[in-house]
Amino acid sequence: MKKRTGMFCLLLVVLLVGVAAAQSQPAPITAIKAGRLIDPETGTAATNQVILIEGEKIKAVGPNLAIPAGAVVIDLSKLTVLPGLVDAHTHMAITYKEQPENNYYYLTYIMESTPLRAIQAASNGIQLLNSGFTVVRDVGNNALYADAALRQAIEQGWLPGPTVIPSGPMIGSTGGQFWPTPEMYKYHNIMFPEYIDANSPDEIVRAIRENMLFGAKTIKLCIDCKPWGYSVEDIKLAISEAAKGGCKVEGHVQTTDGAQRAIDAGIHMIAHGNALTPEQHQQMAVKGIFLNGTDTPFMPYRGNEQAFKRTVANLRDAWEKKVPLTFSTDLDYWNERMKNEKTGEWLTRGDLTIAFLETWKAADIPQADILRAMTINGYKSADIIKERGPIKPGFYADLIAVAGDPLTDIDALRNVQFVMKNGMVFKKDGVMTPEKFFHPGPVRMPSGRWTR
Ligand SMILES: [Zn+2]
Repeated sequence: MKKRTGMFCLLLVVLLVGVAAAQSQPAPITAIKAGRLIDPETGTAATNQVILIEGEKIKAVGPNLAIPAGAVVIDLSKLTVLPGLVDAHTHMAITYKEQPENNYYYLTYIMESTPLRAIQAASNGIQLLNSGFTVVRDVGNNALYADAALRQAIEQGWLPGPTVIPSGPMIGSTGGQFWPTPEMYKYHNIMFPEYIDANSPDEIVRAIRENMLFGAKTIKLCIDCKPWGYSVEDIKLAISEAAKGGCKVEGHVQTTDGAQRAIDAGIHMIAHGNALTPEQHQQMAVKGIFLNGTDTPFMPYRGNEQAFKRTVANLRDAWEKKVPLTFSTDLDYWNERMKNEKTGEWLTRGDLTIAFLETWKAADIPQADILRAMTINGYKSADIIKERGPIKPGFYADLIAVAGDPLTDIDALRNVQFVMKNGMVFKKDGVMTPEKFFHPGPVRMPSGRWTR
């Protein structure tokens, strides 16, 4: 017993010395001189601001702040600084193609392994960060938790990327979005991991608990992927179970009936705007239900005019009814026409994402409201608004800078010159400089065990 006490004391001394050593190394201070600083919440900009960053977080913001001796000064006085952007609904770990799978993602799932898809997701994350997206909600079709693995790897400091809000596999009633053969369904468990079949209250609870155990930070339900979708009671049960693990629920909706069940249950967020009626927009506004419209533009590489007109009209109506809107893409595809028409160069995942501005412009949404959807509403819908988003003391230093003013010309966001994530510079003068993000070990591992 005594021996153990002695060992304990020794351990305590070692720990205390460790803490003292850590305290003796103050976090580096960075001072950003911002020519203009946008607050998307109010849709206003302040000029000649200084942002002081200590380590990963913002310490002070204001005009004429004293810059401490030894601080690294970053001069963005010719640029407009704003919070990082949010894609509130995307899929980084699946890419279905025209060849060889004829755009049928069931085949992508058969042909591409979880490790391959996880690496695609890591690349997509870097490309998105390069275009100013510092937060991504990644909601399903992620193979075997590639989304949660990427979140973990970025959090631990292995590589750069946005803050990922992973859902794990989408939870749905028999069949998810697939129509498998009996032999594949019954004898080869083909649904999992693209979907978790959950057909009763017990199975819904179990599926949600498993997803949270494996790293989900949000829960994605297939409300009406099949005619035997979830009832209001099922959805309410999912919401209360998810809340136990700190998760909010997003419902994939493709029918007006399904949308109504999700609204009646008081879901956090509805994905895909096409089935929603003006009355339902009204109800969503009253209840504060976020809309991930996934508003696909009509581009040379994707879409058609008819579908685009419908999407634009729906987005416009949702805005008029004051639904809390997010910027969301549902990007999960690629084809060989995805090139810059002038230069012939491949478009990046970031280029494809920011191109969704076309829909918002066509719907004639005011620039300040587009910016709010891309920032503040994205942070709120991702349920991280208390840690990230506002450029205010105590928040993580996730910010970007562009030439021009997105409050008067939203297309200014297409040319991101500077990106900072967690207080580290990822892009400067329009060029990626991510070396500080790469490590051969989990340098950001919180003390103790990683709990996802
Ligand atoms: Zn989706």
